[in-house]
Amino acid sequence: MIHPEKQPSATTTVADMKSADVVVVGGGIVGLATAWKLVSRQPSASIILIEKEPVLAKHQTGHNSGVLHSGIYYKPGSVKALTCTTGRAEMVRFCETYDIEHEICGKVIVATQDLDLPRLDVLEERAAANGVKARRIERAELRELEPHAAGITGLHVPESGITNYTKVCLTLGRLLTEAGVELLTGTRVTAIDERADAVRLSTTAGDIQAGLVVTCGGLYSDRLARETAPDTTERIMPFRGEYYELAEHRRSLVNALIYPVPDPDFPFLGVHLTRMIDGSIHAGPNAVLALAREGYTWGDIDLGDLAEVLRNPGWWKLAKNYWRTGIGEYYRSLSKAAFVKALQRLVPELTADDLVPSPAGVRAQAVSTEGKLLDDFVWSETARVVNVLNAPSPAATASLAIGSQIVERLATHQG
Ligand SMILES: Cc1cc2nc3c(=O)[nH]c(=O)nc-3n(C[C@H](O)[C@H](O)[C@H](O)COP(=O)(O)OP(=O)(O)OC[C@H]3O[C@@H](n4cnc5c(N)ncnc54)[C@H](O)[C@@H]3O)c2cc1C
Repeated sequence: MIHPEKQPSATTTVADMKSADVVVVGGGIVGLATAWKLVSRQPSASIILIEKEPVLAKHQTGHNSGVLHSGIYYKPGSVKALTCTTGRAEMVRFCETYDIEHEICGKVIVATQDLDLPRLDVLEERAAANGVKARRIERAELRELEPHAAGITGLHVPESGITNYTKVCLTLGRLLTEAGVELLTGTRVTAIDERADAVRLSTTAGDIQAGLVVTCGGLYSDRLARETAPDTTERIMPFRGEYYELAEHRRSLVNALIYPVPDPDFPFLGVHLTRMIDGSIHAGPNAVLALAREGYTWGDIDLGDLAEVLRNPGWWKLAKNYWRTGIGEYYRSLSKAAFVKALQRLVPELTADDLVPSPAGVRAQAVSTEGKLLDDFVWSETARVVNVLNAPSPAATASLAIGSQIVERLATHQG
């Protein structure tokens, strides 16, 4: 079941059933970008996009760091590496074309301990392999770029930038409507039945018939996938990323983006300092298992979601492998002092008084039955359905390129 606790779908007679050539489920940036690419490729196709929330971009897309990632981190040849570099360039063009605030402000990745040095070498090699500009900088130059940053050495990545992904989504929503796509917000897909001749979606607004379906359900992507691919073994684990914001009078501590050298065994980048497009500076996110798929605070608890995590053998293997990292993340969640200490490794002048809490985001991270955090973007296919199973960061940056790849896949399916 996709959302067991929610209301049943409305019943529809065949006569008044809506139908479309393609239905896209999910009004986050991946679903919207996919619908937009579909419109460009097949302008005459009828398309419906279904989103359970009353507004677009309510979940991951509306709760992220707003960074236009360069593509430096990802394994050469991975889908992430390929789509991030092309997707970033396309996203920048999209922002320019539709007048969405963005800035290519550059980023520094700072090595603050000896352990970081070989990892920085690996990042430099990956940058070269992925065609991303990155330059080793020493202390003096680091100080010029970010006068308050710590670090013995670092990498400067000039192509990284910032934007507002909610605005990108609202623009995509407007363009889609103008192109004749029907946006059904406030409508939840409750079941998907794939048949030989079509796909029937049950929704809270009645049944809909589609030739092809793409699901881009973020935190519910595994449940949506299991509707038509019941042997899908990956499960989404919701990892909350908590943020603080710098008090206004301390914003001058950060010029642009200051990141640590990430732990290569962990798919998250470590708490960092990010200038947002509105001028505020965000600090975070950490990564703690949320107690509900849409668990934005410690008080958001869904016993069904929690039981599903605990029943999953992958979770126990994950906990066994990452318990040390996990304890550190929980400690930083529960203790502001610990969070501040992690940030002081990047900017030593920061104090607890400089930070005020800011809303969290929840990452949809697919985990295998072997307890592996799936690093790359993953989608799976049946005859008439493409399910996006894993689209974590940098999927906002890469969304337009991911959309193109999905549309390529759809073109190989019969309508
Ligand atoms: C804390 C955090 C920081 C991040 N920072 C960055 C960053 O700086 N740069 C970057 O590129 N990426 C970043 N990311 C990753 C990026 O935000 C996500 O990869 C991206 O937003 C995924 O988009 P999506 O459309 O797949 O998912 P979502 O935005 O979560 O959208 C999925 C949508 O599907 C809808 N849905 C689910 N089930 C149903 C159903 N049954 N019926 C109808 N609708 C349904 C949901 O309501 C939701 O709106 C970050 C993510 C987080 C959480």
